[in-house]
Amino acid sequence: MKSFDLVVIGSGPGGYVAAIRAAQLGMHVGIVEEDALGGVCLNWGCIPSKAILHAAEIYEEVSRGVPGLAFDSLRVDYGAVIDASREAARRLNRGVGGLLEKNRIEVLKGRGRLESGRRVVVSGADGETALEASNLLLATGSTDAVFPDVQLDGKRVVTSRQALECRELPGSVVIIGGGAVGLEFAYAYVTYGVETTIVELEDQLLPGLDAEVTRALARSFSRRKARIKTSTAYRHHETNGAGVVVTVEGEKGEEELRAEQIFFAVGRRALVEGIGLEEAGVALDRGYVKVGPDYRTSAEGIWAIGDCIGPPLLAHAATEEGVTAVEIMSGEERPPVDPARVPVCIYCQPQVASIGLSEAQARDAGHEVRVGKFPFAATGKGVALRQTEGFVKLVSDAQYGEILGCQVIGHGATELVAEVTLAMRLESTTTELAETSHAHPTLSEAIMEASLAAEGRVRNA
Ligand code: FAD
Repeated sequence: MKSFDLVVIGSGPGGYVAAIRAAQLGMHVGIVEEDALGGVCLNWGCIPSKAILHAAEIYEEVSRGVPGLAFDSLRVDYGAVIDASREAARRLNRGVGGLLEKNRIEVLKGRGRLESGRRVVVSGADGETALEASNLLLATGSTDAVFPDVQLDGKRVVTSRQALECRELPGSVVIIGGGAVGLEFAYAYVTYGVETTIVELEDQLLPGLDAEVTRALARSFSRRKARIKTSTAYRHHETNGAGVVVTVEGEKGEEELRAEQIFFAVGRRALVEGIGLEEAGVALDRGYVKVGPDYRTSAEGIWAIGDCIGPPLLAHAATEEGVTAVEIMSGEERPPVDPARVPVCIYCQPQVASIGLSEAQARDAGHEVRVGKFPFAATGKGVALRQTEGFVKLVSDAQYGEILGCQVIGHGATELVAEVTLAMRLESTTTELAETSHAHPTLSEAIMEASLAAEGRVRNA
């Protein structure tokens, strides 16, 4: 039996960063991982998908033409794009291994299963290893949710997990789900000329985000020749030879869509099954591990963070929760991560980023709201870069000008949102943002201009 102060199960961005923080705080830490170090984020999520998107962006820009530059033989080697994305994942995966080693964290390869009394049995290639610890941290993450009757075959019927390894593009695809994952792949596919249809159950893409932003995004996807079917439910599909026939149902009834591939991007399911939670007394709530505001589960000495405890299902939220949990474990007083202060980013083009409340959410919460909008078409940098699509929308409270939220659609949106995220943490006002010097020419000037607009002091539009 190996003994630790803390055993972490799962080495995603929640688990491995928590393990390092715990080691820094003086704990003797073991981390259990049955797959590759770095979890979904690094191996099958955030990182490889962004490598694929980056190539698509360059391809789009070059295909559109850059004045003064000539490209004679532009062609796509999608297999090489996938290879590069796998290499990016491998490189970071090695980096996580190095970090764990440097912090003297023992990596236990295999599947962890809880037993009573804060014990874990790890089943790996070399048999079983028993561990015991003063504290256990569940960071088991999530996997693709698929409908019960769906048989994934890695070619005609896929989720993001298979698509990230597919070295060939389909000629046509029906993507079920217009959320972040569906739209990021839709952007890459449509850019490479794949006939793309997006089917979304709700009445807008990116359900839950600002309707004005998602309408602009839908227009942009339509201009790129993607077909969008909102308020449309997936019913079933059949594979036939080279492709699939997908039956969906919208406001006008049932319809059959034919394509070479069906891609399910309908959300995530927490990895909570078959790991001894019930035996250890860890309660679930709607499929996720139930935790209190300090990330303690219902079982003494067992904590949980990241995707396995539920939304927001984001890597940076998992990391912040993991660090918070181990700091609380070591006796520090820490508030829980506030989902309202966690930015949500979608890396298709135009990019979308959102922090805090949308206009509608702010009104529903009873605020008297002031909205400031500013288009990138009115920024010098946007025009110089030929990136004029989109806008910044800043939502503030009318009384004191406190920033309640911000939505950005356009080039670089996922970087720009960081400024407003910090401003909200500092409880800043539109006056403070408006009167902060912003370098010219930058796209960040649109944040300053939107703040001015919220105060009725527009200068540049
Ligand atoms: P995970 O990263 O899921 O890691 C959990 C780890 O636990 C896994 O390695 C798993 O093998 C291991 N594990 C599970 N059970 C056991 C067990 N019993 N024994 C041993 N090991 C176990 N988020 C963003 O913030 N930005 C993005 O751009 C982004 N893009 C994404 C793109 C895609 C295609 C996908 C699918 C997701 C994306 N996400 C993104 C979401 C992000 O990947 C997750 O929110 C994040 O990985 C969750 O981190 P985690 O530490 O909770 O769990």
